[in-house]
Amino acid sequence: MTDAQTVLSIRGAEHHYRADHAALAGANLDLHAGRITALLGPSGSGKSTLLRAIAGLERLDTGSIRLGDTIWNDEQTHLPPEARRVGMVFQDYALFPHMTALANVAFGLSGADKKSRALAQLEAAELGHRAGAYPHELSGGEQQRVALARALAPQPSVVLLDEPFSGLDRRLRGELRERTVDTLRAARTTALIVTHDAEEAMAVADQLALMDQGRIIQTGTPDAVWMEPVSATAAKLLGDVEIIESRISGGEAATPFGAVKASGFESGQRVNVLIRPRAFAVSPSETGGFTITRRRSTGPHLNHRFANETGEWTAQTPAPSSLAEGDRVSVVLDPAYIRVVTA
Ligand code: ADP
Repeated sequence: MTDAQTVLSIRGAEHHYRADHAALAGANLDLHAGRITALLGPSGSGKSTLLRAIAGLERLDTGSIRLGDTIWNDEQTHLPPEARRVGMVFQDYALFPHMTALANVAFGLSGADKKSRALAQLEAAELGHRAGAYPHELSGGEQQRVALARALAPQPSVVLLDEPFSGLDRRLRGELRERTVDTLRAARTTALIVTHDAEEAMAVADQLALMDQGRIIQTGTPDAVWMEPVSATAAKLLGDVEIIESRISGGEAATPFGAVKASGFESGQRVNVLIRPRAFAVSPSETGGFTITRRRSTGPHLNHRFANETGEWTAQTPAPSSLAEGDRVSVVLDPAYIRVVTA
């Protein structure tokens, strides 16, 4: 990510809707030129507020938003939305219902050639043949593509997409997701896509930003964030994870499945051992100390719940497997899917 120029820089962003609750509590985030950043966080973590602050629809209490050397927002400055050249794609697309697809895309344009530019943008979205259609005559996927074309047409400095696939069924979602990424890349757009769906965030992002309680808690490539979450909260945002509370002793953290190497901690320090379900290798053993309590197929994988007298955990193993409920098993950990973090 270091090779890409920072376009938009957010520092210490705070915003309160109510005095006693910070919707943004010191958020820092950089968007890079021509890159797609996915903003992933649970409901209520402040994603939409951050988007609205970037667009100029909310004013920060403290902190700053800059585009290159231009200040959009700080304690003295609040550039109005129309001066920011931000493209927005809303969750419900917000197309003008009484305008054709072409008129919707031409809406934010000026100049004598605005119709032809709007048509070119629709053609790039493979919707040239639907230029005369009204929103209600378009499918959900087509409406989303018109909304994206409308956002891109004025060549904005940044495009913000708020849960852009949430209104679509699962099959269409995957297809449209790829199309959207292709379109954003072809336009070399700097984009921020908000989602609460981890799989979606990983699929679209060059850079992933995790948000929790009004702060960005981790950024990096999807692979890096998945492999090296900075905290239990970050790990949970990206998928199922077992969290084992432990204490460092002799450069290791003890777990019910054996000791895990943990460098960079002081002896006696409290830690969380984060274990992805695929880290558990479960095999039949009368003396292994664990018992299979539940077996569920997810299609490509099997989830085996297993337990001993101290707890119960989930292992994800490739199908097929001959293990059955009640079987006695041993458990070995694959260190590649384990991370030790400060508790
Ligand atoms: P997200 O998009 O991650 O779901 P939001 O940015 O919508 O989160 O909300 C962050 C916090 O701000 C939540 O606690 C939410 O209840 C609160 N909030 C959002 N919008 C408003 C509003 N218009 N008035 C008061 N509180 C709000």
